[in-house]
Amino acid sequence: ESYKRIGEVDEKVQAFLTLDEEKARETASKMDEKLGSDESKGLLFGMPIGVKDNIVTKGLRTTCASKILENFDPIYDATVVQKLHHAETITIGKLNMDEFAMGSSNENSAYKKTRNPWNLETVPGGSSGGSAASVASGEVLFSLGSDTGGSIRQPAAFCGVVGLKPTYGRVSRFGLVAFASSLDQIGPITRTVEDNAYLLQAISGLDPMDSTSAKIDVPNFVQSLTGDIKGLKIAVPKEYLGEGVSEEARQSVLDALKVLEKLGATWEEVSLPHSKYALATYYLLSSSEASANLARFDGVRYGYRTENPKNLLDLYKKSRAEGFGDEVKRRIMLGTFALSSGYYDAYYKKAQKVRTLIKNDFEEVFSKYDVIIGPTTPTPAFKIGENIDDPLTMYANDILTIPVNLAGVPGISVPCGFANGLPLGLQIIGKHFDESTVYRVAHAFE
Ligand code: GLN
Repeated sequence: ESYKRIGEVDEKVQAFLTLDEEKARETASKMDEKLGSDESKGLLFGMPIGVKDNIVTKGLRTTCASKILENFDPIYDATVVQKLHHAETITIGKLNMDEFAMGSSNENSAYKKTRNPWNLETVPGGSSGGSAASVASGEVLFSLGSDTGGSIRQPAAFCGVVGLKPTYGRVSRFGLVAFASSLDQIGPITRTVEDNAYLLQAISGLDPMDSTSAKIDVPNFVQSLTGDIKGLKIAVPKEYLGEGVSEEARQSVLDALKVLEKLGATWEEVSLPHSKYALATYYLLSSSEASANLARFDGVRYGYRTENPKNLLDLYKKSRAEGFGDEVKRRIMLGTFALSSGYYDAYYKKAQKVRTLIKNDFEEVFSKYDVIIGPTTPTPAFKIGENIDDPLTMYANDILTIPVNLAGVPGISVPCGFANGLPLGLQIIGKHFDESTVYRVAHAFE
């Protein structure tokens, strides 16, 4: 069914970079045999899933939507992919993204521009644009994305689907090609909150292969979907409804709060005073980490290698110059600058300190409230090409999602009305490792 639908719509949506049809059909027919038997079945038995192309899959091309990995076939599966096998999903293929997860529109992919299924002239968001568009267009039931500064929640909002960035450490990053290791998390994109909770259940947990994965129990997320939010205390940061946020996005959140009030919750306005520094802090830290993480793409070990280099240095230089796209180069330059001696204290170290202030803002609010609510994005999806020449406007897309990564807390985007025929998202942010409450609120609202 998935391949039939992909055949019908992917020419327009362009969500997939690689399909794994033969293997998927083989797995499916094995499952068909098992279906009639009383053998025990995995949590997500037979469910078709798409995987973002920065999550490694054994023997299945993984490019990060970069030319530098155009011929890279990994020799192992990421932990989340192993867990999907265990849950008995069927991997349909690999999904388009912004190159190395840097971007907010999928226009930074070296291969294709994924479109928003709601309006093919607009972007699906990014960087997990393929992951959100494939679910929204019915090509797959589930997908995995990654979120460093909003890359799951922003495309989920633009495409009218549900996307969760788990608490940092909830899901193993082993096998996720690193962008900014202290911020990256893999998370589920689905049509409903319940599906989302099932998928998170399947991929969560401590992993000896990732020392930043947390030794903390994984609760039964599905059981937390009780529909009951009586007495819940909601904080609404005034910074999330102020300047730069469109009237439609503001109004949709106020409407959502009315619904939540009817269900027995209460809300108050609060302040996250350091929010205004989040964007600058994020771009310094994420680019610094990226400049170090991307040093491994040297033309020797993986993927693309330039032809006829003069010597070893020339091989490095040319392979990287030809293999990386403009946005990736921009981040590497910014990150290398921020980490260089003489500038380190003024930029990188300072940004680390501001990150702590931002995290403290959240802790302060969470000492009194259960969840924080605001819009996921300042506006609905924009037109393809509209922001491509203006990196700063593009970066401003993530102004409401980035603080969540800096603080390491979980955040979900659920569909919340429309503006100009395009979906808007409601963002619900929770305490560290309290995805259960986030899901409970999202499910009650849905
Ligand atoms: N759009 C942001 C960026 O370009 C976030 C990306 C992400 O979360 N991977 O860095």
